[in-house]
Amino acid sequence: MTDQTLDPEDWESIRKTGHQMMDDVIDYLKDVRSRPVWQSFPEHSKTVLQEKLPVSSMSLDDVYKTFQEHIFPYTKGNIHPRFWAWVQGTGTITGVMADMLASAMNPNVTIGEQSAVYVDAQVINWCKEMMGFPAEASGMLVSGASLANTTALIVARNQMLESVRKNGLAGMSQKPVIYASTETHSCIIKATEGTGIGSENLRRIIVDDDYKIRTDLLIETIESDISKGYLPYCVVANVGTVNTGSIDDLESIRDICRKYKLWFHIDGAFGALARLVPEYQSQLSYIEDADSVAFDLHKWMYMPYEAACVLIKNKKSHQDSFSIQPSYLLNHERGLAAGPESLNNYGIELSRGFKALKVWMSIMENGMQKYADQIKKNILQARYLAQLIIQNKELSLLAPVPLNIVCFRFEPEKISDPIILDRLNKEIVMSLQEQGIASPSSTILNGKYAIRVAITNHRSIREDFDILVREVLRIGHQLIKSMS
Ligand SMILES: *Cc1c(COP(=O)(O)O)cnc(C)c1O
Repeated sequence: MTDQTLDPEDWESIRKTGHQMMDDVIDYLKDVRSRPVWQSFPEHSKTVLQEKLPVSSMSLDDVYKTFQEHIFPYTKGNIHPRFWAWVQGTGTITGVMADMLASAMNPNVTIGEQSAVYVDAQVINWCKEMMGFPAEASGMLVSGASLANTTALIVARNQMLESVRKNGLAGMSQKPVIYASTETHSCIIKATEGTGIGSENLRRIIVDDDYKIRTDLLIETIESDISKGYLPYCVVANVGTVNTGSIDDLESIRDICRKYKLWFHIDGAFGALARLVPEYQSQLSYIEDADSVAFDLHKWMYMPYEAACVLIKNKKSHQDSFSIQPSYLLNHERGLAAGPESLNNYGIELSRGFKALKVWMSIMENGMQKYADQIKKNILQARYLAQLIIQNKELSLLAPVPLNIVCFRFEPEKISDPIILDRLNKEIVMSLQEQGIASPSSTILNGKYAIRVAITNHRSIREDFDILVREVLRIGHQLIKSMS
């Protein structure tokens, strides 16, 4: 009893279970196309997941059976070729295996002379190369773009607002203000709340017909804030807005930031990766001029959740925001506590998993050309879908398609009531999902309910978009028939 561990008593039996799991996983991914995109989660399975904390043990085989029956089938569907809801990544089999290897090593990737921190550092260096950031820049792998953006905005605040790290915002004589467009992701609002700036002091500048920030109004608002005694300190530019994939005018925003001495941050959650595609290179070359950029690896690099990156141009400002040297985290000259500076100095987290491994293995295996090709494929698919919509009299494209997001809806000639059109399209989205055909999501554009298709899916093929259009029309007509 006293010498009992959590390791199995019989390693050979666990080997068998493990091999079975790997076989099941390979089939699960191999056959994903033949399954419905989504199916509703049965009440019975929900009940199983409400059982109380178990005290006694159960064999792993039995636990696995419960998983197979009640958990495995009822996925969100984002691994499926016809999943295009929100902005979600698809993952890969290599990612699955890398996560297993990472868990086997189980390193805490913060401090110590160990391979994992060097892998983490190499991945950060590769991310700098992807974004055209200099080798001296710094960065962190975090859970998602929400935390990546928040990390950057903590650095921006601490760098731009003097001694705020020590005295807090209460010590300031002027009220700091930050700028972004009305299309900016909600995580930026949370970040301004979380950094104590307050969402009222996030000036949300309206957008033009292309959903880009109105830079003329940005300048006007900055000037007006200065004249009223506020302290502008940062502009957040969008590269790929969540509603329509629009890209703000980065060159102008950079110039505005230079003129008014503001921190230039970019939320490029998925869009920043379009830099890999030659057609977008010049438009996105201005990312290189940003003070910080946040982007996800689990969206348009198709890594399994979770993985995102924040890059900070000026390493010192990054360190100055987070570095603390407690007595229990000292580096030594030799031994385990030697090695690179603690990553704790570059973010909020102390304990960190080895998410770098799946990124490292995937990039090593695929090479960046493959990622560029996949991203380009998704962009061309969005244009193809837009073309299908434009060519069909009963469908309306509701926004430009600058990247990988298509917003449209069913608008048959005989129906003009805006409330009925909204309801009809909402029904279409729910039916597509319930029938397991496809998973788009929705948004509201200029007051209109839109079916929204965001393509960050390496498994989608062209035919999937033909199916989508065909089924939207079929369900739409069926609904009209049942209404009359
Ligand atoms: C998805 C997204 C985020 C948030 O990223 P998470 O990885 O979900 O935390 C932020 N901004 C934009 C534009 C996004 O698309």
